[in-house]
Amino acid sequence: MTAQESTATRHGAVATSRGNVVALEPFPVAARRELADAQLRANLHRATHTIRDKRARVVAEVPDWEALRAAGAAIKDDVLARLPELLEQFEAAATQAGARVHWARDAGEACQVVTDLVRATGAREVVKVKSMATQEVGLNEALEAAGITPVETDLAELIVQLAGDTPSHILVPAIHYNRRQIRDLFLRRMPGLDAAGLTDDPAALAEAARRHLRRRFLSARVAVSGANFAVAETGTLVVVESEGNGRMCLTLPETLISVVGIEKLLPTFRDLEVFLQLLPRSSTGERMNPYTSLWTGVTPGDGPQDVHVVLVDNGRTDTLADEVGRQALRCIRCSACLNVCPVYERVGGHAYGSVYPGPIGAILSPQLSGGGANRTLPYASTLCGACFDACPVRINIPEVLVHLRHSTVAAKTGPSAERTAMRALAWVMRDRRRYAAALRAARRGVAPLRLAAGRRGTLRRLPWPLSAWTASRDAPLPAKETFREWWQRERA
Ligand code: SF4
Repeated sequence: MTAQESTATRHGAVATSRGNVVALEPFPVAARRELADAQLRANLHRATHTIRDKRARVVAEVPDWEALRAAGAAIKDDVLARLPELLEQFEAAATQAGARVHWARDAGEACQVVTDLVRATGAREVVKVKSMATQEVGLNEALEAAGITPVETDLAELIVQLAGDTPSHILVPAIHYNRRQIRDLFLRRMPGLDAAGLTDDPAALAEAARRHLRRRFLSARVAVSGANFAVAETGTLVVVESEGNGRMCLTLPETLISVVGIEKLLPTFRDLEVFLQLLPRSSTGERMNPYTSLWTGVTPGDGPQDVHVVLVDNGRTDTLADEVGRQALRCIRCSACLNVCPVYERVGGHAYGSVYPGPIGAILSPQLSGGGANRTLPYASTLCGACFDACPVRINIPEVLVHLRHSTVAAKTGPSAERTAMRALAWVMRDRRRYAAALRAARRGVAPLRLAAGRRGTLRRLPWPLSAWTASRDAPLPAKETFREWWQRERA
């Protein structure tokens, strides 16, 4: 059994042999538990509303925002259509520039490649730039199993790591903590801290983390990163960040290993002009992010001299084969869809039991992992469409959600109460007379319940087996009179 196979997280998720973190419990069960945490809901409400308001302001400043979104979607679709050719072009250009390119079919291979590379340097500790790809493959757990200590250097990732917790947001992994909770955590887990002088002021907390990390940066021999973009034309990798910790990791150590999903490609250097406008505005609500680091292989005498790129598939090729679902691979991990999602805002990221939470997690995780309780994630949505409106690369998330729900239902075999009910409903609704007769019958059937329904006209609880429906929603009673009947009475 590999390290990934045995990795269980605090929040009821487990990494499969394919390496994707999949939920052990269905979303409805996990969501119910998380909803009981009032402090979590308050933290999430404050944080998501702050980021979404900032995003709305800076997006409104750009007159051609819709054209930029369309351009971003078109570039990414071009990448997906020419993926094999562009990957080979990237490999050739990066190799020419002095990097070594490795290929990983799944999470297990990716972890093995990185572990072997670190072992070859003799280092027992690596500093890490915030990276969704390394979380996806369970790299930290694999390194720890090999006796190598991974040190997260992004402030929010560091908070999560010190707490022994798991991230709950793509961009702000510690979004579920407030300042007081972070101060208490630092006092408990950060050795050598000046406890008396530490307040819960964000600047004081950032300063404490900076001092804690500075020693790690200066002694690190190996860094591990992801990449926001990989340019096929030049073999260049790009990391976009706000804190500067990434820049330290990317420049100080002798060895740099970057774990990159194969969909991160852009065809040309010039394509960055679109994405470097879309990403900061959509993620942190900034016009421009403070640090954008670009590197192409090895520059003699400047920065890491031993540069590796691990290109990871891990379910992406399977996702690409789905004509509707493949648009999820356009994602640039900005997290705008999380911040506008009414479901995410209430349950938080842990309820998804997946590295990718929120609307993008609901469509990406089931496709990448292809199993487990992740199958329930496409139902974690109201289909309100706010995610589609916010997405900078125009991923039609509601369309993919419905598509994945349909696949789940279609895959079920044998009779089920839901399928039987839906078939009966379809038969009734195919014929106007049948439909009208059914409505009349329903009205007569529910007449004794009208008193219980009161003025709201809805029932809170129905007896079994209909109780499954009212467990999470009210049941409206049929109107006393249909529109056709009213029209007949008034106008005929
Ligand atoms: S789906 Fe769109 S909005 Fe959501 S993280 Fe990806 S790029 Fe951003």
